[in-house]
Amino acid sequence: MSQDLDAIVEAATAAQPSPGDIAALPLPETMRAAVVRKSEVDMFDGMATADKDPRKSLHVDEVPIPPLGAGEVLIAPMASALNFNTVWTSIFEPLPTFLFLERFGRESDLGRRHDLDYHNVGSDASGVVVRTGPGVSRWNPGDRVTVHCNYVDLEGHEGHDDSMMDAHQRIWGFESNFGGMAELSLVKANQLMPKPTHLTWEEAASLSLTLATSYRMLVGPNGAGMKQGDVVLIWGATGGLGGFAVQLVLNGGGIPVCIVSSPEKADLLAQVGAELVIDRRADGYEFWRDGRQQPREWRRFGTRIRELTGGEDPDIVFEHPGRQTIGASVFVARRGGVVVTCASTSGYLHEYDNRYLWMSLKRIVGSHFANYREAWEANRLADLGMVQPILSRTYGLDEAADAAWAIHTNAHTGKLGVLVNAREEGGGVSDVAKRERFADRIARYRRFS
Ligand code: NAP
Repeated sequence: MSQDLDAIVEAATAAQPSPGDIAALPLPETMRAAVVRKSEVDMFDGMATADKDPRKSLHVDEVPIPPLGAGEVLIAPMASALNFNTVWTSIFEPLPTFLFLERFGRESDLGRRHDLDYHNVGSDASGVVVRTGPGVSRWNPGDRVTVHCNYVDLEGHEGHDDSMMDAHQRIWGFESNFGGMAELSLVKANQLMPKPTHLTWEEAASLSLTLATSYRMLVGPNGAGMKQGDVVLIWGATGGLGGFAVQLVLNGGGIPVCIVSSPEKADLLAQVGAELVIDRRADGYEFWRDGRQQPREWRRFGTRIRELTGGEDPDIVFEHPGRQTIGASVFVARRGGVVVTCASTSGYLHEYDNRYLWMSLKRIVGSHFANYREAWEANRLADLGMVQPILSRTYGLDEAADAAWAIHTNAHTGKLGVLVNAREEGGGVSDVAKRERFADRIARYRRFS
């Protein structure tokens, strides 16, 4: 960290930060950032996806400070978190994210800044505001914030009911440059939310992307519209999305049926009150074998679900593994039920038996991150202590690639944090009494490690 940056971080994290003093401090010319390099996009050509190793492609380089534009804010991330999208970026699948940056560069002057020969990744952050651009009035230097990743101008009419519908909506740090894994990061003012006061920097940074995605998928009319008593089948129930989905279902009076791949993960769920758990590995399901769906396996799975629920089928299936599970997901959903999907980790060309969809009047709902309002509501739940972080481990910025590898190999549980400007774990709690009030609940989900 440069001396200039050191001074900014110290002033911005003071107990009583002075916006004027922070704004008067000079910015450094360069910063450290986790990046992939355009010169390396071919490095994994011909390799199987599983063998592509982010530890070879994700670097920490010294790069220029991004220039601040209208409606934008420069923040000093204290912490960031790994998301699966950083795995995709660093293995250049399904396409190099430089194509997103080039497209952005063709759109506008502001977009051109993003089209560089490096891509600074990271779609989550907690930190402090350092500079505000023209037109920003709600936020000031020194504000402690978390950042959601819906990067949208709303110049067009399409997004004004729901900003995720905007034709130019992007995911920050994935489809834009200047993400959260950098000593300074560029965001739009409408990405900022107040940092939950009782959480550490790394806990707060581990929430937004997967929590808000799960929130939209389950809660409200843009997703499955979950109601009390709904049986919700959750794939990857101790993963980044699933760990929050379980909490939202329990909070909302639903009945989670949790799918995991080890007895240890099943134990974690029992400890947080999710009683209906299937260990997919122990039961040996092979829904997708030799390049084909396996309907007999769907039936075996459906029977197991009914055994757990006392004969009920899922009202909602929380889907993201994609090709290997979608056939089973469509099959097991109840008549009139909803399969809500936001991803295709195991492959995006999906095959399912459409008779089970139309004859039983089921629906598949596509979902993608969340609008500002949904992200704000999800963040509010965390601030109220109604949703807990599921942070299992925190890495340094230099180790971000190791964290990406852990996610790529499914060797993690919950979320993996990354310290950026914070020098050690545990900082950033401004309401100690509130943290003590929620200590039991926080500890329960800390066991996700
Ligand atoms: P994660 O932390 O890796 O958790 C995913 C979990 O899914 C894994 O831990 C694994 O749990 C389970 N899983 C993986 N492959 C599976 C398979 N073939 N069959 C059954 N279960 C499988 O990842 P995440 O953060 O939850 O993200 C999951 C996916 O959603 C990623 O592809 C990510 O890019 C995407 N995503 C999309 C959005 C969006 O806005 N569209 C937002 C967030 C994430 P077990 O091994 O325990 O079963």
